[in-house]
Order: sequence, then structure tokens, then C-alpha cells
Amino acid sequence: MLKTILLSFALLLGVPSTQVVAKPQPKRCEAITQKGTRCKNQAVENGKYCPVHKSKATSAKKCKAKTKDGKRCSRAAKKQGYCSQHYQMYLKKKI
Ligand SMILES: [Zn+2]
Ligand SMILES: [Zn+2]
Repeated sequence: MLKTILLSFALLLGVPSTQVVAKPQPKRCEAITQKGTRCKNQAVENGKYCPVHKSKATSAKKCKAKTKDGKRCSRAAKKQGYCSQHYQMYLKKKI
């Protein structure tokens, strides 16, 4: 049904239907902003993130967990962005 509508549209506009369907979509950044919404920037070529989030993703090699006194954990991240100790806590859903 939808295909028929699209096809007749294409015929109306005088464009071959293949051109209508095969429209290249610019990839959007897959990062989630602090507000919890999807980043609206365009992703870099062959990448998942925009330049802003790409640099964040590659530079974030420190554990993302916080210690008891509210400071950022200084150990290196190993799994899911956590150090081995915090990853265990993450698995047990303590953080
Ligand atoms: Zn982004
Ligand atoms: Zn940690």
C-alpha cells in the first residue's frame, strides 16, 4: 500500500522510484547528551559519533565510577567504562 503511494508519487514527480528510495541519510551521532536526548550532530564519516563525542569516547579511558567521597575513580577503565573493582559492583547493580 505504502509502496504504491510512493511509486505514484515518484511517477507524479517524474523521478524514477529507485532514486526516491535510495536517498542517502546522513548518519547521526549515537551519543546521549546530559539531558538524556540523542545528540543532534552529524556523525563523522565511518564513525558513530560527532567530532565532539568522538573525542570524548576515545579519551574516556578512566573508570567512570565515583568513589565514596564523590571523587572520580582514578583507575583505568577496563569493562563498560569501569575499572575491574567498579565493574564487579556494576554487575551486582551496586552502582
Ligand atoms: Zn554527538
Ligand atoms: Zn573504578
